[in-house]
Amino acid sequence: MLLKTVLHWFRRDLRVTDNTALFQAYSESERLVPVFCWDDAILRSPDVGAARVDFLLRSLHSLSRNLDSLGHRLVIRHGPPEEVLPTLAREAGASAVFVNRDYEPYSVARDARVEAVLTEHGIQLRSHKDRVIHEGREVLTRTGTVFSVFTPYSKAWKAKPLSWPAPRIGGPKAPAPSLGSLPLPESAAALGHPAGQSPCAAGERAGLELLDQFLEARVFDYDHGRNLLSEPNGTSLLSPHLRFGTVGIRTVLERLQSARTRTTTTVGQKSCDTWLSELIWREFYIQILANHPRVASGSFRPEYDQIQWRGTDAQFEAWCAGQTGYPIVDAAMRCLNATGWMHNRLRMIVAMFLTKDLMVSWQRGERHFMKALADGDLAANNGGWQWSAGCGTDAAPYFRIFNPVTQGQKCDPDGDFVRRWVPELKDAPADCIHEPWTRPLLLARSRYPSPIVQHDVQRGLCLEMFKAVKGASAESKSTPSSANE
Ligand SMILES: Cc1cc2nc3c(=O)[nH]c(=O)nc-3n(C[C@H](O)[C@H](O)[C@H](O)COP(=O)(O)OP(=O)(O)OC[C@H]3O[C@@H](n4cnc5c(N)ncnc54)[C@H](O)[C@@H]3O)c2cc1C
Repeated sequence: MLLKTVLHWFRRDLRVTDNTALFQAYSESERLVPVFCWDDAILRSPDVGAARVDFLLRSLHSLSRNLDSLGHRLVIRHGPPEEVLPTLAREAGASAVFVNRDYEPYSVARDARVEAVLTEHGIQLRSHKDRVIHEGREVLTRTGTVFSVFTPYSKAWKAKPLSWPAPRIGGPKAPAPSLGSLPLPESAAALGHPAGQSPCAAGERAGLELLDQFLEARVFDYDHGRNLLSEPNGTSLLSPHLRFGTVGIRTVLERLQSARTRTTTTVGQKSCDTWLSELIWREFYIQILANHPRVASGSFRPEYDQIQWRGTDAQFEAWCAGQTGYPIVDAAMRCLNATGWMHNRLRMIVAMFLTKDLMVSWQRGERHFMKALADGDLAANNGGWQWSAGCGTDAAPYFRIFNPVTQGQKCDPDGDFVRRWVPELKDAPADCIHEPWTRPLLLARSRYPSPIVQHDVQRGLCLEMFKAVKGASAESKSTPSSANE
């Protein structure tokens, strides 16, 4: 029997197609009330910055238009969810609130509070798996424990059946109740984030277009293109969409499978498999955070919390501002600060530079990234930082230290990326642009800073710093496929 009225509470699933809980809410009820709740605990969090709020807001505008075109109306409220949802459910006469599960510690605690208050009022909270293909404890080792190494996790993940996209919801089956709703602000400034600008088009349609453009051709060259900074981008640029759920993961995998059947070349097929691997890294880190929420506030390997980080505040600030004197690091940081975006290879380079060359705690870098990135996501960001610092589940060994010069030469061989973001070096020739200090006259004319540390010297100091706390388990067996130097 159908429920009379239900709410669907949108969080990280801002789309009308392939949305598991939304489709269930629609199918199991006579009347569906879609709702979004502005939560100050998130909006005012020091970890939330303008690029992310801007992407969220523009995705909400798109969601609202998509619901309108289907005949539904998005109800917007503002306040603590444990107050807003029960109040709205009572106003609407709803007997259940549908949600897609979220695995971050804040969200898990928030949902438990919401569920407790709803239950007091005789209203159910019905949660569904949607953000991932395999969640929580669905992928386990033979002895029933959670994987902490990627390669066997990935193998076990692939051995399990995939799930397929949920259909798009249809139009209303009965007139919606009349409910008050706040207008959506036009810009992030109204939400306290004045400089807001996200790096790519937001919303469900834009996300699907991005996916299709990538799967049309670039995915077949992903193995090669993902490590270069040249245009067009060799990666999909889908991360803000996967972060906010403007594209569903089942849709992504279904279309990837179909793309893979269109290529007959080994290179093309291998590239498709590598891209799948990156999507599995995403789920790997989500399950690590869900099963080990302590990683949000400390190293996965606790001995690494004893490291005496030697870096100074001034060095950290120079890194944040893109003023370290290492062109690839500075270009990457300036690009991040201006656009809310950074390429994966650059994320690894600047994270290694902060933790290993400057010897500043990975957690300071993690926080700066969270605030600046449009795709800032606790699980992936924390995983990426712990991997780079060498203290994570499946981390790069602590003694693996990227050389920022050779890294720059490999991913930006002509220096075009550096010239774009470090205009002081716009006249530098390609053969020295990643080490301008080798041409003192050029450096003096450019007003670009000299390196704030010497890589070779720091390398030795860093190894000492890590060795002082290193446990026997410091080395791990695998690394993200995108990390080969
Ligand atoms: C220090 C550091 C911090 C990072 N912070 C974030 C973050 O806050 N949010 C975020 O989404 N990713 C983060 N990543 C992972 C990765 O850099 C981005 O997902 C990727 O750059 C996004 O670009 P894309 O969508 O074009 O990726 P593609 O190469 O096209 O990959 C497709 C998707 O796979 C997922 N993915 C790819 N690589 C990884 C990875 N190593 N870990 C987890 N998921 C991955 C992303 O959802 C991505 O959109 C971080 C990596 C590092 C090293």
